Amino acid sequence: MLIVDGHEDIAWNMLTFGRDPNRSVAETRALEQDSEIPVHTGHALLGWPQWVEGRVAVVFATLFAAPIRRKVGPWEKMCYRDPGEARALYLASLDTYKRLVEHHGDRYQLVRSRQELTEVLATWSPDPPESPRLGLVLLMEGGEAIQDPSEVEWWQAQGVRILGPAWTGNRFVGGTHEPGPLTADGQQLLRAMADVGMALDRSPMTEQGQRQALDTYPGVVLASHSNVQSLLSGSPTPERHLSDNVIRGLAARDGVIGLMLYNPFLVGGWKPADGRHGVTLDLWCAHADYICQLTGSARHIAVGSDFDGGLGLHKIPAGLDSVADLRLIGGALAARGYAPTDVEAILGGNWLSLLHRLLPEI
Ligand SMILES: [Zn+2]
Repeated sequence: MLIVDGHEDIAWNMLTFGRDPNRSVAETRALEQDSEIPVHTGHALLGWPQWVEGRVAVVFATLFAAPIRRKVGPWEKMCYRDPGEARALYLASLDTYKRLVEHHGDRYQLVRSRQELTEVLATWSPDPPESPRLGLVLLMEGGEAIQDPSEVEWWQAQGVRILGPAWTGNRFVGGTHEPGPLTADGQQLLRAMADVGMALDRSPMTEQGQRQALDTYPGVVLASHSNVQSLLSGSPTPERHLSDNVIRGLAARDGVIGLMLYNPFLVGGWKPADGRHGVTLDLWCAHADYICQLTGSARHIAVGSDFDGGLGLHKIPAGLDSVADLRLIGGALAARGYAPTDVEAILGGNWLSLLHRLLPEI
């Protein structure tokens, strides 16, 4: 069994904290022990030995930066004041992945086509693998680096295969904390994405924007890291989560939803002071189960951990220590009665099916 994770902010960590994903999480934690990094973001969850140990074969690796109005502290480096600065930061993220692949081609490979996906998956057999490679599917989280929709084609040529127009709100569409509809610029952006065959990531667009996009976007749709709104009544950001209508809409379009392992998005109103002990993997399964019941299928659920995306060890469910432990989801689903074929689909198969529909042959 292989795991595919729909959301990891690898470049953001490298550029913000100087983290090296080649190190184990234990090495990164030891190096950061006397620094302020764990205070700002928590203890690291991602590292090469842990991806291998957990048989995480493919991740959707983000290009991400935030508008300066959302800056949470002086330590945050990936913030922009205008689209020009946004472009520079997203280019730096792209360059980070290119260098990672260039310098460590024995460990990382960009996945831009079905052929490259097949190559990556082949490195994971036999079990244990001799020289596995982690496949990186580039996901642009937030579209503000794009000043004109015609630039989408350039990003596609650079390897970006998935684009989420909003993180917080911007000129294309509303997002977390900043609601709003899909604008005329947003419609144009979506048309440019459809023209080049990019997938549309709905996380974290607002309900209104998501419904408009569901009605209009002809290409592949997904939610890389989102949870179920109906199970999060105490959440301070209800607009960040998926309503029943949007879940049904995604399923009707054969979309896949990556469910996060982030405690405040598993239990509404959870705070770090509440401790991790009360948040179990079974709560993640409850979100998965809700979507299964609503859509009548296990084909629309996957993992979108968001590990190290501004969250660390203290904000993930009890019993998990790193990305290696994503495999424990399998046992938790089995305990709820999920068949092995469904477990395999949820842990990796559903994302792989979506990638087969999305990626060009070569
Ligand atoms: Zn992210």
